[in-house]
Amino acid sequence: MGRNPQIFVKTFLYAILIIFQLAVCEHTPKLLLISFDGFRWDYLSKTDTPNFDRITNNGVRAKWIKDSFTSLTFPNHYTIATGLYEESHGIVANIFYDPVFNETFQIGNETTVLDGKFWGGEPIWVTNQLQGGRTGVYYWPGSEAEIKGVRPNIYEKYIKQEVSMALWRNRTDTVIEWLTDPENVVDLALLYFKEPDHTGHIYGPESPEVVQMIQQCDNITGYILDQIEEHGLSNLLNIIITSDHGMTGMNRSRFITLDDHIDTHQTKHLINYIVGTSVWPKSGENITEELYKNLSSIDPEHVQVWMKKDIPPEYHYANNRRIAPILMSANEGWGIKENWNDTHYLLGRHGFNNSKMDMHPFFVATGPVFKKGFISEPFENVNIYSLMCHILGINPAPNNGSLDAVKQLLADEYIPDEEYKYTQLQFTIAKWAGICFGAIIVIVLLIYVIKELKMNSQMRKEVSGFSNSNLTYSERDENREPLLSTDFP
Ligand code: ZN
Repeated sequence: MGRNPQIFVKTFLYAILIIFQLAVCEHTPKLLLISFDGFRWDYLSKTDTPNFDRITNNGVRAKWIKDSFTSLTFPNHYTIATGLYEESHGIVANIFYDPVFNETFQIGNETTVLDGKFWGGEPIWVTNQLQGGRTGVYYWPGSEAEIKGVRPNIYEKYIKQEVSMALWRNRTDTVIEWLTDPENVVDLALLYFKEPDHTGHIYGPESPEVVQMIQQCDNITGYILDQIEEHGLSNLLNIIITSDHGMTGMNRSRFITLDDHIDTHQTKHLINYIVGTSVWPKSGENITEELYKNLSSIDPEHVQVWMKKDIPPEYHYANNRRIAPILMSANEGWGIKENWNDTHYLLGRHGFNNSKMDMHPFFVATGPVFKKGFISEPFENVNIYSLMCHILGINPAPNNGSLDAVKQLLADEYIPDEEYKYTQLQFTIAKWAGICFGAIIVIVLLIYVIKELKMNSQMRKEVSGFSNSNLTYSERDENREPLLSTDFP
């Protein structure tokens, strides 16, 4: 036992605890969800993308995924996070009016974006943390608000910055630190990049500038994959890379101007986001009907106008108080101006009908749970939440998606059938058996230590009388180490 049995035993016990901790971490499934904003489904075919190819060759790709109506950034990122259509989670546009709060939510307005009351449903980080997981979020709509009393364990406050590879690498390094932190490791990380959306808006989706930006997205993907390999995460980490919507080209000649056709003073709120308009009529006899009639007759060939009750059910966009009594939606490539002072001319836009191909985002994924080299038929983005919960081994909150819609992406052993449940059960039993076994070892060790300490103390007593006794060394327990003079002060 040496001269200080307590130190020896303490060290030994710590070692065992660390081994158990590592063993548990080693088997915890991990997930990294990445969004490249505005990455249209067919952008991968615009140029060589050797790093995205690393993912698709060793993982899965969907032909495209269908985003939710309206095809805008905040609503769709939050749909991915919650598995809910926009009417269900309540982020029905980037800007919307809430008649009960009598407030207008607006991206870029910190007061509303950080206010949890606007964010319905249960985003994946909340589901994860309520079930014992830890999450780190490097930018995601909703991640800065307290939702159901929970904020991500770690999150970054969104800062608008110019695009640079150095910044993107720093962001990646931070996320890799979260995923490997020995003290407070996360099992779920979310990472957001604002491109190629920004470039697509300015130069249009068919521009050479967008091609360059796709290459830059591919570069950072390569860096992310390299870091994952370097940190030994490859066999543990599942990576989903997707986007919120696509992009289509715009033309200055395809605009209508509301001021030419209606008296905007008849509206209480007129929220125009160019590809669509939410119209809240003032109260008064027949005002709503009059506005609807006038708006409907502007250009029915290029701009759809619905009373809220008539919005096509396939949009899943009616059952929420934040959806205006009258909704306008421009056809793909068309725009709506409030008046002639509006100069919202961009060469690329999104937010149109979500059944249009140009609105569809891409989806690729790799990791232990995914098939290798598989191309999937399209699916809706509401299903990604169920997929993420399945990967993390947590129960999903009520949502509009289903794992059935995405189970084709999973390697056979992860497909959720009866056999899978059995495997999961086996895993749970094995885990608890391991914990019990560990506990027994610790208890046995403790008993051993206590016995050793008692025996030591007994020997101290015996040896203290030894010099005065007539006992010889051969008469002591021969299994013990010889007593040296240095054993006692
Ligand atoms: Zn976006």
